[in-house]
Amino acid sequence: MIFKNNFKLLLILFFVSFRLSGLFAQVIKKVEPPFWWSDMNNKTLQLMVYGDTISAYTVSSDHPELIKSITQAENPNYLFINFVLPADIGPSIIKINFLKNNVIKESINYEFKIKNKEKSRNKGFDNSDAIYLLLPDRFSNGNSSNDNVTEMLEKANRTNPDGRHGGDIQGIMNHLDYIKDFGATTLWITPLLENNQQQYTYHGYAISNYYQIDPRHGTNENYVELVNTAHEKDLKVIMDVVLNHCGSRHWWMQDLPSRDWIHQFPEFTRSNYRSEVVTDPYASEADKNLQQNGWFDINMPDLNQQNKLLATYLIQNSVWWIEYSGVDGIRLDTQPYSDKEMIAQWAQSILNEYPDLTIIGEAWLQEIAHTAYWQKKSKNADDYSSNIPVVTDFPMHYAIEKAFNEEQTWTDGIARLYYILSQDFLYENPMNTVVFLDNHDLTRIYSSFQKDINKLKLAIAFQLTTRGIPSVFYGTELLMEGFSHEQHGKMRSDFTGGWANDSLNCFTSGGRTQAQNEIYDYYRKILTWRKTKEVIHTGKLVHFIPENNIYAYFRYNEKECVMVVLNNNQTQQTLNTNHFSEILNRYKSGFDIISKEKIQDLNQFKINAKSAMIIELKK
Ligand code: CA
Repeated sequence: MIFKNNFKLLLILFFVSFRLSGLFAQVIKKVEPPFWWSDMNNKTLQLMVYGDTISAYTVSSDHPELIKSITQAENPNYLFINFVLPADIGPSIIKINFLKNNVIKESINYEFKIKNKEKSRNKGFDNSDAIYLLLPDRFSNGNSSNDNVTEMLEKANRTNPDGRHGGDIQGIMNHLDYIKDFGATTLWITPLLENNQQQYTYHGYAISNYYQIDPRHGTNENYVELVNTAHEKDLKVIMDVVLNHCGSRHWWMQDLPSRDWIHQFPEFTRSNYRSEVVTDPYASEADKNLQQNGWFDINMPDLNQQNKLLATYLIQNSVWWIEYSGVDGIRLDTQPYSDKEMIAQWAQSILNEYPDLTIIGEAWLQEIAHTAYWQKKSKNADDYSSNIPVVTDFPMHYAIEKAFNEEQTWTDGIARLYYILSQDFLYENPMNTVVFLDNHDLTRIYSSFQKDINKLKLAIAFQLTTRGIPSVFYGTELLMEGFSHEQHGKMRSDFTGGWANDSLNCFTSGGRTQAQNEIYDYYRKILTWRKTKEVIHTGKLVHFIPENNIYAYFRYNEKECVMVVLNNNQTQQTLNTNHFSEILNRYKSGFDIISKEKIQDLNQFKINAKSAMIIELKK
């Protein structure tokens, strides 16, 4: 029997049943997903039940019609119950019994909710947005009482760059206004799920429980509160999802459902991290095997996504978090390391439920051709489509890094920006790329630029006006430093002011140095301007081959036109604009939104050394 909307009765039943089942020695240790929604478009649900010799039990239910089949795993301590949900089940709790010799030995009450259809949820994001990427452990400690948790092995130690520093969800909540005022619209928070490893857990990519926020970051409820509060402030949230590998201390690692749940080798075998092998027509089986199946790290076992039970588990897990939390986007970690067919199925399953949600794939590759392969509907020779609409633009990152560091030649220096964009024909949609100067895995851009603020300004002006969705790594606006070939924990240092005992508070202008404010204000000015500039979000792009170490391009639509000029020279230049007349002949004057100065004569104007102009053209 299903009780529709009779919550009182439901609650009573829940507690009575819970107590009854508590009378038996507990066999069942895990049931995942912990609850589900009956009105999903996909009417099937695979429930993983873990308990001592659970496969020796038979299963019954007060709703036998919902249980389509039972799948036994290789390991008798697992059972998978396959549900088929009728359309009208509504919110309900059903009873699932586990029997031996026709006697009920244990029961669970399994809840089906109905989806939250509020418009503020699962909205997705696009080129009108700007992402702010942060590591929760390193952003702000809003609750020092959760820095150390008894059950979690690694304790806080702020003196260790690679240790946990205590940052948490409350810390992010406390500073949403900072992020909004800075001009970002969307938060990408690196993984918040439990990482109960011995050490090096602050980055969050070794998940030990796919259904629980790490208690050192907060609770599942805190995460929902964060997403809701962000939405109230008109900010969006991206969840960072890790499917390629789990943590070596994931609870199932002690007792795997089957030997093929993870990729196993006679001894620890590391990935070769060469994702080009997936598309390389000449790749050897040995190289492909290492890239796909080798472990990402010693504490990150490689999940075998070709195992159908695991694939369904992972897909349901993502759908569960999207519905549970209301997040607007998903960032998929290590896209090319995963089984590509499974990932395509994962993305499609999500979009079937949440068509407006945005998925970004982390396609960390050097070349545009390799990167474009991983974007949905790219023109791939093997007709593969990942179903993932947005990819991270690493080739652009490398081009930016070199463009402002190198001397200009035919192909080097500022010409790199031209060459990289000229390959955009390889993308199905070049607008669906994430453009970043640095991120949590890369040398801080301020370090790459030898602490040259002018190079950084040129890069920022480019990042925020070229095609794609800009993503700013927390601390870039504060001139944070760090090299990827050194200690990673140092690239991901604490946001000064995020901890109660910090001597300075960089969340306020008074706590920032003059140089930090210069970059913060520069970023903020262009980000704030960009927010309402449709011409930058969706306008067409025309660029001109760089000459004299100057790169100029235009963004335009039917209503507006913006000219961007990047002068990479050490001296002021006078720009003769004859070459740009195919666009400029329609305009009489301009307004540089950076200097706030009017340009009366578009035929010829001066541009300062190592600087950018973003010029709104006027008729
Ligand atoms: Ca804390």
